[in-house]
Amino acid sequence: MQKIGIDLGGTKIEGVLLDANGNEVNRNRVPTQQEDGYRAIVNRISDLIVELKGSSEASVGICTPGAIDPKTSRMKNSNTVCLIDQPLKEDIEDKIGQNISMENDANCFALAEAKIGAGKGHSVVFGVILGTGIGGGIVINGNIHHGRTHIAGEWGHHTLFPNGKKCYCGQTGCAEAYISGPALESRYTELTGEEKIVTDIAKDPPQKWKEEFMDHFGIALSNVINILDPDLIVLGGGVSNCGFLYSDGVESVHKYVFSPIADTPIVQHTLGDSAGVYGAAWLGESI
Ligand SMILES: [Zn+2]
Repeated sequence: MQKIGIDLGGTKIEGVLLDANGNEVNRNRVPTQQEDGYRAIVNRISDLIVELKGSSEASVGICTPGAIDPKTSRMKNSNTVCLIDQPLKEDIEDKIGQNISMENDANCFALAEAKIGAGKGHSVVFGVILGTGIGGGIVINGNIHHGRTHIAGEWGHHTLFPNGKKCYCGQTGCAEAYISGPALESRYTELTGEEKIVTDIAKDPPQKWKEEFMDHFGIALSNVINILDPDLIVLGGGVSNCGFLYSDGVESVHKYVFSPIADTPIVQHTLGDSAGVYGAAWLGESI
């Protein structure tokens, strides 16, 4: 069956139609225009699905920018604020007359990279988004592993330092408070008094900044490896463009892993911004 994947972002809604073999047949995007409100977004997504589908049958998956309550399928937090607490899945299903799948962006990223990206051919893939926030998704034999309460893979809020920096989630010392893009940028400002975006800092990083970053990255991902022992870790998000993550970063992770043969591959994504739509499209297989 053909598959439709929709990536719902804060500024644009992107959609693809894949054929039964996963090849891209059609693609389109429309602006989200969240100022028009929730109903308008439901209509735009539904219209895009109908347009991509044409007269053929296709499964539909949607990648959303926030966590989804597993009991109600309503979005719990999202930077597209008008979506919060709305029954987005049900409303789109009503509008287009078929069942759909919905997952957060980290799970879609992990699924896409595991199916057709950097993790293709590997059984257990841990997908990491290192950006404004930190997310993660676990894919086992081509399926997203959700866990009992749908938090599997959410490594951004595991504790690196019990008495460490305050995190917006209410805890202290979370990984996100140290190695997310904004955390790395504010640490750079603390050390130098200057403001730069993380990819610019990484071009010529101050030694102390880089050492801390590598140490925190090493501890954070080694914790994941010690528990999950994935076949491969794939990195996405803006911070994943820091080249030294794949040399010094990998070395630091392996230093902290509890194994004499620490050699888990840690690689950059290959699908770029398309991971959201492709992951969403592959979700359809699980309906
Ligand atoms: Zn936190």
